[in-house]
Amino acid sequence: PGKKVLIVYAHQEPKSFNGSLLRIAVEELTKQGCIVTVSDLYAMHFEPRATRNDIVGHMHNSKEFNYGVETWEAYKRGGLSTDLVEEQRKVQEADLLIFQFPLFWFSMPAILKGWMDRVLVQGFAYDLTKSYDGGLLQGKSSLFSFTTGGTKEMYSKGGIGGDIRYVLWPMQHGIMHFCGVKVLEPHICYAPENVSEEKRKEMLTAWTQRLKTLWKEEPINCSPEWYFK
Ligand code: FAD
Ligand code: ZN
Repeated sequence: PGKKVLIVYAHQEPKSFNGSLLRIAVEELTKQGCIVTVSDLYAMHFEPRATRNDIVGHMHNSKEFNYGVETWEAYKRGGLSTDLVEEQRKVQEADLLIFQFPLFWFSMPAILKGWMDRVLVQGFAYDLTKSYDGGLLQGKSSLFSFTTGGTKEMYSKGGIGGDIRYVLWPMQHGIMHFCGVKVLEPHICYAPENVSEEKRKEMLTAWTQRLKTLWKEEPINCSPEWYFK
């Protein structure tokens, strides 16, 4: 109770399966006494593009634009655009970050990738000598909850898509672990569009059940072996 959760949600349709998974998480965690915040990226018309507009006021180098350098400098002087400052505040306050989205091209939807690109600025989420276990967002956990079009069989080691863990490597290790955030087991709902109504209900119940004991979970050992062994 009292734990703070930020759910970053990337689906256009509230009636979608992802929408149902989001509502379940908000309801269950709220019921537990958690303080839940949702960033509903499409509803917010979240800007996914990393551009000059993210810097307010003067450029560190006005002759040649470098997004990484400019956002780092802007972060230090409090010159990031207000939408980024707001998302960073939500991240800073959260104990747990949940990402809820449909798998797009073996990855996250562009709007969510844009959130990662723009919010996790150098100086805020990591720094030159502060990455991975030393990342600046230490003390937080993350959970990738997503749906697929493909079946579980397709996303197995011998399957056509390969082990689903391969697609988790950039997201969990390359982003969250890089920033010092612990990673909980992902939550994957396979092919909700192509299963029976009964199976869909089962998947939603499984999510509710998992959330009930979420705070007792240990993070995964987020290292190359977890993904590729
Ligand atoms: P929906 O279609 O919204 O939901 C499925 C069904 O569940 C619907 O009939 C809905 O009405 C129903 N439902 C919703 N709520 C409930 C409820 N409470 N109880 C019972 N039923 C409910 N897939 C891959 O595997 N790999 C890829 O690389 C990939 N790339 C993609 C790229 C793009 C650009 C796109 C558009 C899709 C891609 N997909 C891929 C497929 C995509 O991942 C799936 O379409 C998506 O995950 C399905 O989730 P959804 O929430 O949109 O499903
Ligand atoms: Zn890792």
